[in-house]
Amino acid sequence: MSTYLSKLAATIEPYTPGEQPRDKKYIKLNTNESPYPPSPRAIEAIREEAGECLRLYPDPECSDLRNSLADYYGVDYKQVFVSNGSDEILAFCFQAFFNPGRSILFPDITYSFYPVYASLFGIDYQTVPLNDDFSVPVEEFTKENGGIILANPNSPTGRMIAVQDIEKILNCNKESVVIVDEAYIDYGGESVVELISEHPNLLVVQTFSKSRALAGLRVGFALGNKELIEGLERIKNSFNSYTLDRLALVGAQAALLDEEYFQKTRDMVMTTREETIRQVKERGFIVVESAANFIFISHPRCNARVIFMKLRERGILVRYYNQLRINNFLRVTIGTGAEMQEFIKALDCILRESADA
Ligand SMILES: *Cc1c(COP(=O)(O)O)cnc(C)c1O
Repeated sequence: MSTYLSKLAATIEPYTPGEQPRDKKYIKLNTNESPYPPSPRAIEAIREEAGECLRLYPDPECSDLRNSLADYYGVDYKQVFVSNGSDEILAFCFQAFFNPGRSILFPDITYSFYPVYASLFGIDYQTVPLNDDFSVPVEEFTKENGGIILANPNSPTGRMIAVQDIEKILNCNKESVVIVDEAYIDYGGESVVELISEHPNLLVVQTFSKSRALAGLRVGFALGNKELIEGLERIKNSFNSYTLDRLALVGAQAALLDEEYFQKTRDMVMTTREETIRQVKERGFIVVESAANFIFISHPRCNARVIFMKLRERGILVRYYNQLRINNFLRVTIGTGAEMQEFIKALDCILRESADA
């Protein structure tokens, strides 16, 4: 390692995103992007903005987008924070709400960015083992802590946490901030946005990357009481006053306002999910209950890593985690109906090969 690097840069274990290969065209079922394009209105808004005005800095308050989000979710403008992807918001959360020396809690199987942020910002953490069926052991989140993060629905499992369970966790943790990462909430989960008025310690984080098909634009948002939002603003303004650029601001707002397109595309994903679940179950897979745009599956006879590699050879990317408890599972993003047919066809070949072997 270069001697020019800080201790932090030399020793930190960075997050590894799902691959975005460029060697050939793959069916990408590995990073939970939408299989459908963004709303045509978003693209049109970005086109219109891509002109002379780019010489000027964007609105540091992001007022228009925040106002639209406030209207959409029925909250006050001061309860809305926006930034460059929800990953960035989560990073700000670690700096705004957590302190070294008081362990925060999150599940052992969850979004693997959480431990990375903890190391980056020197925040101690304890992981809470999920139950065997990957549900959240609610009572384990009532012990002493310096903060809590829950992805709901969880990734990579797809399981959702019931609103009453999150309420229990909120009630037992009035002294610490509870962050609910709702990246996948639009695919059938129940949001806890409505609880922010009664629970000043709740921050809900969402993104335009999944159900709004704008992963490439990098827009995330958080909803919570105004003290929490002010905390995020303080960190953001100590880092970069202009995290969202002009194209992102108008594109995200236009996507948010195109309700019909949003409903249509997420319904298609949910319909394809149910059909895919049926088909993989028919082939002997165990499927974790999913309220997300992906499924988490395991085959009793055929090793997940082997399936992962053979799918890759056939031009289909899914996600495999070489991690205790889940190393015989695959996370498969729901693509278009046609993509999922290709996926099922490939699975049939792979299962046949493994039966012959
Ligand atoms: C995809 C994802 C995010 C990140 O979303 P961006 O807004 O693209 O940064 C955050 N949390 C979870 C659980 C995710 O799966």
